[in-house]
Amino acid sequence: MTRERWRSSFSEWYNEVIERAQILDVRYPVKGLYVWFPYGFQVRKHVLGVIRRLLEEKGHQETLFPLLIPEDEFAKEAQHIKGFEDEVYWVTHGGLEPLNVKLALRPTSETAIYPMFKVWIRSHSDMPLKIYQVVNTFRYETKHTRPLIRLREITTFKEAHTAHASWEDAEGQVREAVGIYKAFFDALCIPYTVSRRPPWDKFPGAEYTTAFDTLFPEGRTLQIGTVHNLGQNFARTFGITFENLKGEQEHVYQTCYGISDRVIASLLVVHGDDKGLCLPPVAAPIQAVIIPIWFKGKGDEVNQEVARLKDELAGLRIHVDGRELRPGNKFYDWELKGVPLRIEVGPKDIAAGQVTVVRRDTGEKGALPRAGIKEGIERLLDDIATSLRERAWKEMESRIAKCANLDEAAPILKERGGIVRVDWCGDEACGKALEERLDTDILGTIEEQPKGLCAGCGHEAKHVIQLARTF
Ligand code: ZN
Repeated sequence: MTRERWRSSFSEWYNEVIERAQILDVRYPVKGLYVWFPYGFQVRKHVLGVIRRLLEEKGHQETLFPLLIPEDEFAKEAQHIKGFEDEVYWVTHGGLEPLNVKLALRPTSETAIYPMFKVWIRSHSDMPLKIYQVVNTFRYETKHTRPLIRLREITTFKEAHTAHASWEDAEGQVREAVGIYKAFFDALCIPYTVSRRPPWDKFPGAEYTTAFDTLFPEGRTLQIGTVHNLGQNFARTFGITFENLKGEQEHVYQTCYGISDRVIASLLVVHGDDKGLCLPPVAAPIQAVIIPIWFKGKGDEVNQEVARLKDELAGLRIHVDGRELRPGNKFYDWELKGVPLRIEVGPKDIAAGQVTVVRRDTGEKGALPRAGIKEGIERLLDDIATSLRERAWKEMESRIAKCANLDEAAPILKERGGIVRVDWCGDEACGKALEERLDTDILGTIEEQPKGLCAGCGHEAKHVIQLARTF
């Protein structure tokens, strides 16, 4: 497994693999909007399958709210509108008629959902209310757009919204959401760090924001998930109240949390190599591809064996590549598309009562006995997931550095990127100066006690923060 190009020419590698592995077609004639190829759409479907299962296990119900939000609702929460005002697309006309109230294409759905929460919630027994939806959202990005990473139409926005009868319950929900996202990224073998965003970088209208970031090969981090404690801010704005146990009206406590297409970008990137994608089995549209190796006069025998094998592997996502191509060409295609396992069946395998297997992650070639083949393949797929997860975590952790001061941090961030941790006093002006001096962003504070003085100003440190260049 070589990763030279993957590491040194990341942008080129990314654009090429997304197109050639048939994840997204970038030729749609609107900037920042892309088309899912059927193969890419299958990857998306399996990724969503994982998060749906995890959310529903914890009592979230799937729902669907409208795409259009009336301007008066959208503008109600002052900080929220301020956070989004320069990214919103507006619908201003119905046919030729100007609309009385402009309609926003949702950049996120708080202001679509919470007027309904006001109607739905009456008493403490209506809570906790836990819903989610998977929708497209729109943001007028002025920065350089990039498939799955910086989009004008986010096609895969999974947003969950909850309401609770107390601050403690909302805090508990934040912990549950963080746990769900950890399990989600673990299932996809994506490594992450969790930090609390600095106050100037929290979600507009939230009390605080906890964020998941992963690290890309060229040294920048990508935000892949956020969890917000909204406190009673939106409840006050939208008048969402309930009758508490004392019989009094009280504003509800809310949380929301989201993931997007960026999870799929990470899935493609963190496991990739110079040959293309390397998908974890849970997200792979094809978990194993069977390649018949035909020899003169043995074609029928091989085809019959392949058909039997496919039957026995029912329940796994198996594809038989029966194209009239040289095996080498087929290997190349499926390696590019990241199929975790290749199974070769030729006359010699049949004679020996085995199949030949080749792992995409390591390139390792071996044989599995034909008897008990399904268990054998399942075990191998589990091994692949485990080693992908371990490799990705090792790669990220090798690029996290704890630094005592900025003289140590600066060259690391400049030369190889990655994540740097320093002690920090917690002061906003000091934090912003730090970001500027290092030409980087504060990802946030982590759950670790500082040992020294603030790396920015030399005063007493209260937190350990993570810094990185970000997408
Ligand atoms: Zn300081």
